[in-house]
Amino acid sequence: MKSVKVVVVGAGVVGFSTAVCIVEAFPSCSVTLLAEKFSPDTTSDVAAGILIPAESPDIPLVRQRRWFKDSFDHLLAIAQSQDSPEAGVMLSSGCQIFRKTPDNLKPFWSEFVIGFRLMTDRELKRFPDHTFGQAFTTIKCECLNYLPWLQKRFQKAGGQVRQRKVNSLQELSDSYDIIVNCSGLGSKDLVGDTQVYPVRGQVLKMEAPWLQHFIRDGNGGAYIYPGMHSVTVGGTRQQGDWRLQVDEEDKKGILARCGRLEPSLSKAKILREYVGLRPGRRNPRVERELVQLQGRRVPVVHNYGHGSWGVTLAWGTALDAARLVGQCLQEMPLQAKL
Ligand SMILES: Cc1cc2nc3c(=O)[nH]c(=O)nc-3n(C[C@H](O)[C@H](O)[C@H](O)COP(=O)(O)OP(=O)(O)OC[C@H]3O[C@@H](n4cnc5c(N)ncnc54)[C@H](O)[C@@H]3O)c2cc1C
Repeated sequence: MKSVKVVVVGAGVVGFSTAVCIVEAFPSCSVTLLAEKFSPDTTSDVAAGILIPAESPDIPLVRQRRWFKDSFDHLLAIAQSQDSPEAGVMLSSGCQIFRKTPDNLKPFWSEFVIGFRLMTDRELKRFPDHTFGQAFTTIKCECLNYLPWLQKRFQKAGGQVRQRKVNSLQELSDSYDIIVNCSGLGSKDLVGDTQVYPVRGQVLKMEAPWLQHFIRDGNGGAYIYPGMHSVTVGGTRQQGDWRLQVDEEDKKGILARCGRLEPSLSKAKILREYVGLRPGRRNPRVERELVQLQGRRVPVVHNYGHGSWGVTLAWGTALDAARLVGQCLQEMPLQAKL
């Protein structure tokens, strides 16, 4: 019996999360993931992988809360299971500090992380430039481990994986019934989305096993995230910058900013340096449409544009994308489903 053929484009954290959610929700579908690049060569592999969201301006808060809660709960279950080291998912405690008190003292995500509280004056004393802080436990997800772990889970559930660059959705319309677009920054060309732009980020991986707690400046300009194998120290957010090479001036700036927050970094060894291009967009795009391809109206589900929060929101948006695939299946003519 011919099953419905679904293709997911993209092998970053959004693509693999979406592919797993689809193959597990609809076992009778044949699901294939296609991507030009796989781990360790995606933007997701460069991510520090900490779960701290920001508010998207035009998405209803109730939906954003669900995206974050679903992502957090999914990764928390892994962090607390025997899969934690293989999947690269761990709990991480620390603080986010601000120079000026933010308008919203309790952000929408505060009830989903663990033990959220405001920092005391005594705790803030070590950060003389900062007047306000939030302490909490969240999750750090190392995509260099997590992506291969998701790929295994996808293939175990029957998913197929192929390396290939897709030049246009037309190329897929002959072979697949539903197209799921998780191509991140690639959506600029693949679906001609002019709202997508690169936000360049540079990070250092440092050896500093004495650091156990994360520190993040609320403006995103400096962060220190201890992980399983090293400490991720960053960062930069250069909008519209396509350069993938490491920049020496950026590195000096990162070390200076982070050194002010954590002076002992001067004793840490730099292990590696990475640059990644975040898929910037005013809001993530998680929606479906019917696209006219080679004389046929083909259902396309989009899930891209997560900016600096792809790891933070991947599972929640993947569940939404899988629900949208379910709606496409319901609306397909019976013939196609047989
Ligand atoms: C320095 C840095 C630090 C970060 N830190 C964090 C953090 O702490 N927490 C957090 O939540 N997020 C963080 N991010 C953001 C996060 O990395 C991104 O939001 C996330 O990786 C986006 O995932 P994605 O799957 O959409 O895109 P990607 O990982 O870029 O994957 C896109 C996939 O689509 C494929 N593709 C694209 N076009 C085509 C095509 N035409 N044909 C075939 N395949 C195609 C690519 O090959 C790739 O497989 C950070 C990013 C950077 C750069």
